[in-house]
Amino acid sequence: MFHYSQEIFEGLKAYRKADGSINLFRPQENVKRFNRSAKRMVMPEVNEEDHLQAIKTLVELDQNWVPSQHGSSLYIRPTMIATSAKLGLGASANYCHYIIAGPAGSYFKGGLTPISVHVADKYRRAVKGGVGEAKTGGNYAASLYASEEVVKQGYSQVLWLDAVEGKYIEEVGAMNICFVYEGKRIVTPELSGSILPGITRDSILTLAPTLGYEISEQRLNIEEILADIDSGKITEVFGCGTAAVISPVGNLGFKGKDHIINNNKTGEVSTKLYDELTGIQYGTREDKFGWIVSI
Ligand SMILES: *Cc1c(COP(=O)(O)O)cnc(C)c1O
Repeated sequence: MFHYSQEIFEGLKAYRKADGSINLFRPQENVKRFNRSAKRMVMPEVNEEDHLQAIKTLVELDQNWVPSQHGSSLYIRPTMIATSAKLGLGASANYCHYIIAGPAGSYFKGGLTPISVHVADKYRRAVKGGVGEAKTGGNYAASLYASEEVVKQGYSQVLWLDAVEGKYIEEVGAMNICFVYEGKRIVTPELSGSILPGITRDSILTLAPTLGYEISEQRLNIEEILADIDSGKITEVFGCGTAAVISPVGNLGFKGKDHIINNNKTGEVSTKLYDELTGIQYGTREDKFGWIVSI
């Protein structure tokens, strides 16, 4: 039953605190999103409490695999695949739900480093009404070709535009994207139905106002965004997701032209948000929102 691509997954991390104990960050959100993906892919939903307990039990059993270096973590990957041994087209009758885990080093060695991103001109990732909102393998399969092409041109990731008009910004690879205006306003594409609703994105939208930043979710036209980068109105751009937390973008390439952001340097807003979020994750900053589940 692998043929018809009923596959979903999640990605979260376990963080080692200085006192040796272990933190999970908003794991209930991963468990909920897993079920939303399951529903969309006509797969069975998993009892949320059981799923969370399974994640906690696995981390407890594997606790010696949670590294203690700052920035490192145990990456946890809940997965579900279709397993019926039949070829007839339709939803599988059987599924395997499993969780794998593996230690992950710090994403950035020696501080946050900006990446170069290329805006997809020819290829599209997901369409409204499709499965872009679900964390399902097919979305990645659909994006690999374009990713490989931009890597050959010296960029590290693809920025996707909407599939209907090819005008509006959606997200980057496995990250959502944020633009900072004049060092104080954080703008991110609204959830359009084809964007993956990131937990890091949601955490930033919740956290940023408490740090004195304005936030807004809206439709973002690529041409307007590039003009605002060129005029200096946009002072920072960053991707956000569980893997890197915050990934500053120093260059946006589109139609043969590079648009450099903040002199290709990591900005203050990116750094502040990174420090605050990782501080909460590693237990060195106050968990004001009750996001931590300790093990
Ligand atoms: C997982 C993922 C994200 C980021 O989600 P987080 O919950 O913040 O890790 C963004 N975009 C895509 C396509 C993803 O698969």
